[in-house]
Amino acid sequence: MEDVILVVNCGSSSLKLALFDQHHRRRTSALADSLNTEDAFARIDGVEEKVALPSSASHREALEALVSRFRDLGLMTSEPRAIGHRVVHGGEAFKEATVIDDSALRSIQACAGLAPLHNPVNLSGIAATRLMFPAVPQVAVFDTAYHQTLPQRAYLYALPEAWYREWGVRRYGFHGTSHYFMALEAARLLNRTLATTSVISAHLGNGCSIAAIRDGISVDTSMGLTPLEGLVMGTRSGDVDPGIFDFLSTKGLCTEEVHQALNHQSGLLGVSGQTNDMRSLCELADHGHKPSALAIDIFCFRLAKYVGAMMASLSQLDALVFTGGIGENSARVRQKTVEHLHLMGFKIRADFNEANGQYTDGHIEDNGSRFAILVIPTDEELVIAREASRLSGGTGAG
Ligand code: ADP
Repeated sequence: MEDVILVVNCGSSSLKLALFDQHHRRRTSALADSLNTEDAFARIDGVEEKVALPSSASHREALEALVSRFRDLGLMTSEPRAIGHRVVHGGEAFKEATVIDDSALRSIQACAGLAPLHNPVNLSGIAATRLMFPAVPQVAVFDTAYHQTLPQRAYLYALPEAWYREWGVRRYGFHGTSHYFMALEAARLLNRTLATTSVISAHLGNGCSIAAIRDGISVDTSMGLTPLEGLVMGTRSGDVDPGIFDFLSTKGLCTEEVHQALNHQSGLLGVSGQTNDMRSLCELADHGHKPSALAIDIFCFRLAKYVGAMMASLSQLDALVFTGGIGENSARVRQKTVEHLHLMGFKIRADFNEANGQYTDGHIEDNGSRFAILVIPTDEELVIAREASRLSGGTGAG
């Protein structure tokens, strides 16, 4: 029997799959999007024609169609050895990845109140693969789990304590799988062990967050109770004065309208009035579009402020790390951000930065920089595959 691991990431209208071999090398990836609508489609990396889907395909139908196509293409010749699922919220119940049994399922369901848009859809992916592969071990890997090591002073808000005790109002943090991978990769690139590596990790994609990692352990992060807090993001505001709800109610906006605007019409999109896409914003700014230039400016300034804030949790720093679509590809964002950090001793080297650290093992710092600055491509699916392998009886190494 072949020894593949299937990784499943269910979003609200999308499904991402990845297949890894027994050495944890990626064999292929696939995407289904616009699910439950007439525009639903699916495709497999490197395969030109789309995968046929029933009209308005559900997550389960897309999963079945993609797995059947994997089989036709010889990418998967038997049942997977393990299946790893990305699950957004593990609350305080999950401090690490877990094998999915009935009790774990109940706990994931119990966390759904904290992530009503995400956990139910993650659960529907789990239900679908359990039906398809009832004998295969399934593992949940949580976005929040890596941040469960935050000290109380970092995870508690200065709010009535009963809100935490009774309702779990606290900072949870997200993107934990990516931040953990950054710590591992930084340790490897710097020739250190994870337990002696301290980094500030900036994950900059459509969602953005930053984490302080001391000796391999997460000790602070910018996202909070929900993924709205912290950095400026594609369509999310990040930090705002909570008084905004009250003020905007005097202008006739209800809580739901403000919530929608903060999540979907703010961030880079809100300031530029054009797009949430950093690449397009850079092009617009180059053509003299001032609101786009301003959006980039605000994004980088907020990020730099948070790098400073994360230093309060560390007693030493080995590297500032950039990852995510923006962090990995935008020399401009990294340059503008680091310019604000001159006083702290961060200095970037322009040619290394322009090349995204490709020829320098990720390094983009100047000789005179007090700290290393690294660009590291994230691979959350690889971490999920390793965890699925480890918890289902494999090594987890590789
Ligand atoms: P997600 O969080 O959805 O996984 P990604 O990590 O793929 O998103 O990041 C998407 C963001 O990365 C977009 O804003 C996109 O414009 C940006 N990005 C990708 N490539 C570049 C580039 N070459 N220059 C600037 N931004 C880029």
